[in-house]
Amino acid sequence: MSQAILLTPGPLTTSARTKEAMLSDWGSWDVSFNQLTASVCNDIVQIVKGQATHVCVPMQGSGTFAVEAALGSLVPQTGKVLVPSNGAYCQRIARILGYQKKDVVVLEHAEDEPASPDRILAALIADPGITHVAMVHCETSAGILNPLHDIALVVAAQKRHLIVDAMSSFAAIPIDLTTTPIDALIAASGKCLEGVPGMGFVIVRQDVLESAKSNSHSLALDLHDQWIYMQKTGQWRYTPPTHVVAALRSALDQFHEEGGVSARNARYQKNCAALVAGMRTLGLRTYLADDVQAPIIVTFHSPDHPNFQFSKLYEGVKAQGFILYPGKLTQIETFRVGCIGAIDAKDIFKATEATARTLHDLGVISSI
Ligand SMILES: *Cc1c(COP(=O)(O)O)cnc(C)c1O
Repeated sequence: MSQAILLTPGPLTTSARTKEAMLSDWGSWDVSFNQLTASVCNDIVQIVKGQATHVCVPMQGSGTFAVEAALGSLVPQTGKVLVPSNGAYCQRIARILGYQKKDVVVLEHAEDEPASPDRILAALIADPGITHVAMVHCETSAGILNPLHDIALVVAAQKRHLIVDAMSSFAAIPIDLTTTPIDALIAASGKCLEGVPGMGFVIVRQDVLESAKSNSHSLALDLHDQWIYMQKTGQWRYTPPTHVVAALRSALDQFHEEGGVSARNARYQKNCAALVAGMRTLGLRTYLADDVQAPIIVTFHSPDHPNFQFSKLYEGVKAQGFILYPGKLTQIETFRVGCIGAIDAKDIFKATEATARTLHDLGVISSI
């Protein structure tokens, strides 16, 4: 069995213990599985200190299913949503709202520019019809970190609602719901919690969720209905991703043993620093300035050399046990390397060595 290390933003490399947690079958109606779900949801709310105000509603599917569920259930049909955009996941929010036939205002930013609290404030003042702001915390397209706390204060001061896609930052970058006002925070099992993919979740203010009955355009993605049913029965509506929940329970145990958000953040910071330093010695340039780079995924400019092709780099590095990720920027040629998952700086160092050997074999760099 190949055990390649995934340097991708999810699915990502999971520990042996997380994989082993999937070796049992669970009955979806069984009390032990219901307890598993409840304990996972409890832990998730506590990671962002939301237990006094927020509840966690899990949702089957990949992260986008949970984003679509949150937007569909929490934004009423008459709502109008401001989306500060600096990448593909922001655009996906606008696209989802388009499917739901809701009013959207996209506030465009450059892909290397963090979302601006001042521009958001001006947009909210200019258009009192805007009811919600929907943003991405770490825009995984380029790997940029948006200033969530400052934006949240602006949105709250303007008495609008805030929905945050924290998919690639949750559990790795600190978020404190007691000091950062957020209506709903969305993430998933298979990112920085280092579980396997298959379930998303929305951490939502209980009062906001209570007033969201019959908003949803979709039955399967109705967050309010999922929550009511789960409260009544302890069960998921419809078949739960049982093995994913069991793996996430184990991944959460390991997260706590590691030392929680601060320890995970420190490990990812080290991974990111090792990656950037190693790649820079090969002459590769990062797309983002260091001060806006999140320690989640790094975008590199493709080397300006006729022999360079990402597919060749990918194959060469894969043969040495590492999986890279293509770029996702609209204008320029880039590729990405993830810093997250059950990996450490030694793995990153080996990946930069594999990159060096491959670029040398391709004739893109002359010495290693
Ligand atoms: C991974 C990710 C998602 C969800 O993507 P899926 O492929 O549906 O899991 C959404 N937003 C961001 C910022 C992400 O990194």
